[in-house]
Amino acid sequence: MYLRPYKKTDSETILSWCRDEKTFRFWTSDRYDHFPITEDDMNYKYFDCNGDCIEEDNFYPMTACDDDGIVGHFILRYTNGDVHTLRIGFVIIDDKKRGCGVGREMISLALRYAFTIAGAEKVTIGVFENNTSAYHCYKSAGFKEISIENPQICNLFGEKIKVVELSADKKSFYHTTELPVPTHLKNNFIPIGTDNTEYKVTGRIFCNCGNTSFEVWESNDREIDKLICSNCGKDMLLFDSGKHGWNGFVCKMDFLDRTKLFNKYSCGKCSCDHFEVTADISSQGKQDFTDECVSNDNSFKPDDWVDGFEWITISLSCCNCRSIEKDWLDLETM
Ligand SMILES: [Zn+2]
Ligand SMILES: [Zn+2]
Repeated sequence: MYLRPYKKTDSETILSWCRDEKTFRFWTSDRYDHFPITEDDMNYKYFDCNGDCIEEDNFYPMTACDDDGIVGHFILRYTNGDVHTLRIGFVIIDDKKRGCGVGREMISLALRYAFTIAGAEKVTIGVFENNTSAYHCYKSAGFKEISIENPQICNLFGEKIKVVELSADKKSFYHTTELPVPTHLKNNFIPIGTDNTEYKVTGRIFCNCGNTSFEVWESNDREIDKLICSNCGKDMLLFDSGKHGWNGFVCKMDFLDRTKLFNKYSCGKCSCDHFEVTADISSQGKQDFTDECVSNDNSFKPDDWVDGFEWITISLSCCNCRSIEKDWLDLETM
């Protein structure tokens, strides 16, 4: 999924998700005085009325897309003149994409966009107290509920509904975002880059002696990979498809021939056998693991989610000629 600025032509798709007035009011609160609204109404509000914001440079409507097209929408704006505190509003997800996964991914992207690109230090969001699915979705994306003295009350279908306030700050968002680093690599994996999330992490492997170059030994067509530190000689298991990932860890599927010998890998260009090693690990995230595994099988604990990852990619960089074996291993583990 990725984000881009909203375009006028997005309105047709977004409005098609509002099949009833309840969905519409959850989406827009009291920002429109009638239902249903047309594409022109939406674009008039956004572009001619600047989303009801007074400041000219405020109100940033965004659209979330995946490979099939538009999947969600929200807006960002700042309030009370504080450009470092952004508020997310008008959150809506394609009603055909059920469950919380898509919403959580979009809100998590929105937070990362706000913190890394839009310069926000804090992001807030409000949710009707009876919209529990959105409330849990926002919390799982990194928001925390805050108590305020005079909560906003909205009149929704003749009922007075409290707006629950949630907030996320930059520091704790990056600190608490959990990464899917498998348990056996936890002490030997440094995340690199800025776009690591609960769903995907890229990192470099290092030895406890501080060294980052290794001999790489593989067996069973690279489905078992071991590293030997070029400095201190300590060995480390990098990956074993019969023990790690969804099939190995969760389903206990182990078809490997453990009598097979290990082969030392050497650079195709210069035949050096010392490499720096990076790994990409993709995960379904903690919540899915909890729903699918922890709830059904008490041998799993919530913290085990990092070991049930769904994809691993390993790349090697030759310490001598610097050529890179991208995707030396590229394996779906489910
Ligand atoms: Zn070492
Ligand atoms: Zn080389």
